[in-house]
Amino acid sequence: MGATEVTARILDGKATAKAVRADVRALAERLTAAGHRPGLGVVLVGDDPASQVYVRNKDRAAEEAGFRVETRKLPATTSQAELLAEIEAFNADAGIHGILVQLPLPSGLDERAAVRAISPDKDADGLHPESVARLVMGESGFVPCTPAGCIELLDRHGIEIEGRRAVVIGRSMLVGKPLAQLLLARNATVTMCHSRTTDLPAVCREADILVAAVGRRELVRGDWVKPGAAVLDVGINRGEDKKLKGDVAFDEVAAVAGALTPVPGGVGPMTIAMLLSNTALAASRLAGIEGH
Ligand code: NAD
Repeated sequence: MGATEVTARILDGKATAKAVRADVRALAERLTAAGHRPGLGVVLVGDDPASQVYVRNKDRAAEEAGFRVETRKLPATTSQAELLAEIEAFNADAGIHGILVQLPLPSGLDERAAVRAISPDKDADGLHPESVARLVMGESGFVPCTPAGCIELLDRHGIEIEGRRAVVIGRSMLVGKPLAQLLLARNATVTMCHSRTTDLPAVCREADILVAAVGRRELVRGDWVKPGAAVLDVGINRGEDKKLKGDVAFDEVAAVAGALTPVPGGVGPMTIAMLLSNTALAASRLAGIEGH
């Protein structure tokens, strides 16, 4: 076998996200017909260019899925009280089922307080402490979109989770910690790794499912991966050449792994799809209509 030979099935996140969005659209149509059109409320403060792009993409995807979308664009000079008032207005709006406050907020605004102000019943990003508690306690609730997207990618490619060894590198509240909980809830045996883990390559070699959510370009090398393992690359790193690279050395790992997500076009596209799915499921819960 040549060193650059690809053995891994490449998991196409774009195609999978499209399939998720089609399912969400079908659910949204049923809900709308029953008088419960899903609604997404978005709050964007300031003029961070990356946030503007993210919000535009989310708005467009939600509209394509047939949602009502309300976006509040507030100036960087917005006070905390004004921000909280916008969130409260969405909380009180019965036609809004999912709320997200685009992070990061401009300096001077309290992100934690903003996230806590979102009703846990509308917490589309799954970052409210009550959503975190529900996840840990195994109760139904909102799950952060990127980890939810990782599970969806595994499920839609028929990759078994139960009983398998999963290793998650990275312990952020946004990705690593919720993903470890989701894998645990699906009966994987989960190990969490981080910047202080001793002999990270040896731990990774035990994984049947290996997830890298670190933010270090090509950290995971071919000899860190058990032959046949499923490898999910969450990392988004822009190199000096401006090219997007993941946390996984793609060519090396593709020659060892059984399945691998590319960057771009792997986990990334799943995030928005899961935001829509979260919101549509919230609307269906409220309407008493079964989701997918
Ligand atoms: P973070 O910076 O909050 O957390 C990074 C984690 O990596 C930390 O827990 C840290 O302990 C660990 N870490 C740092 N250096 C390490 C090392 N050398 N070895 C092992 N662990 C190490 O980042 P985050 O918000 O979790 O994001 C992680 C990556 O995923 C980033 O590249 C981010 O851009 C990307 N991301 C992608 C999506 C998506 O939609 N695809 C969504 C969120 C984040």
